[in-house]
Amino acid sequence: MKIGFIGLGNMGGPMAANLAKAGHEVTATDLSIGAIDRAVEAGCQRGDSVEAAVKDADIVVTMLPAGAHVRSVYTDDYGVIAKAKPGALFIDSSTIDVDSARDVIGAAASAGFSMVDAPVSGGVAAATGGTLTFMVGGEEEAFDRARPVLEAMGKNIFHAGEPGNGQVAKIANNMLLGVTMIATCEAFNLAEKLGLDAQTFYDISSTASGQSWSMTSYCPAPGPVPTAPSNKDYQPGFAAAMMLKDMRLAQEAAHRAKASTPLGAQAEALYALMESAGRDDLDFSGVMKLINGSL
Ligand code: NAD
Repeated sequence: MKIGFIGLGNMGGPMAANLAKAGHEVTATDLSIGAIDRAVEAGCQRGDSVEAAVKDADIVVTMLPAGAHVRSVYTDDYGVIAKAKPGALFIDSSTIDVDSARDVIGAAASAGFSMVDAPVSGGVAAATGGTLTFMVGGEEEAFDRARPVLEAMGKNIFHAGEPGNGQVAKIANNMLLGVTMIATCEAFNLAEKLGLDAQTFYDISSTASGQSWSMTSYCPAPGPVPTAPSNKDYQPGFAAAMMLKDMRLAQEAAHRAKASTPLGAQAEALYALMESAGRDDLDFSGVMKLINGSL
């Protein structure tokens, strides 16, 4: 399969490499020449522009920072929609706002192209290992065409329904993760202040009703989960800046949908304090340092 790949950053670079490794003919492009060079070393062909990457492609994959980049890469005069060959399928795996996702999928449909939004869960390690989870929004037919390509980059592929629903699943999940992480930090901090050490509290709560992924896979208190960023001075992992981006997307969507998300709003405010303190480079579980006063 001929694939055009646009956006070769921390995530897109290894994803494009996995597509090449799976035997696809990948033409890769980015604004950064260094990123293109690395993709070529990983088995991709050099694409010097969006047009060069997409003109012969059966499938176009994009992995860009935010909604504005996705709108521009797809709808500009020299963008994907203008330059792709008829019948190509578009897959956008960036994490972006739901409205941008639906608008761009609509613009593609008006020009006769099928497109899915397919944001991912899992960080750089999962992108490198080909074990990402994809949450896909779009028509059944587009999902069926996208699936084999997504399987070369990920382990779990979910069809979430109509266009934009992949982004809905992503932001709702990450809002839940952001909130449970803060609640977990508060519980460990409270236990410690009252004289209960982290390991003992973990042993009890991880087998009781306070258990969550934030506790058992990513414990924000150093000690109980050896692989957690809390044991490496909160080096990411998943940076607080990325979590804040997703929390903001969730709040914007919640306002528009008139969905009440008071805990999501509070969590966004707390991650924003890490940003104000210049510490949003820490893993998001580093919000522990805000809660226990050591930031
Ligand atoms: P990144 O900033 O490392 O990479 C983005 C790349 O897009 C950059 O190389 C940039 O040069 C390129 N780019 C921007 N505008 C472009 C244009 N007009 N034409 C061509 N290339 C362009 O970001 P990332 O960490 O790879 O994340 C990509 C997306 O994946 C984001 O939406 C992010 O929220 C999401 N995501 C990231 C992670 C993570 O752990 N890094 C995890 C899940 C989801």
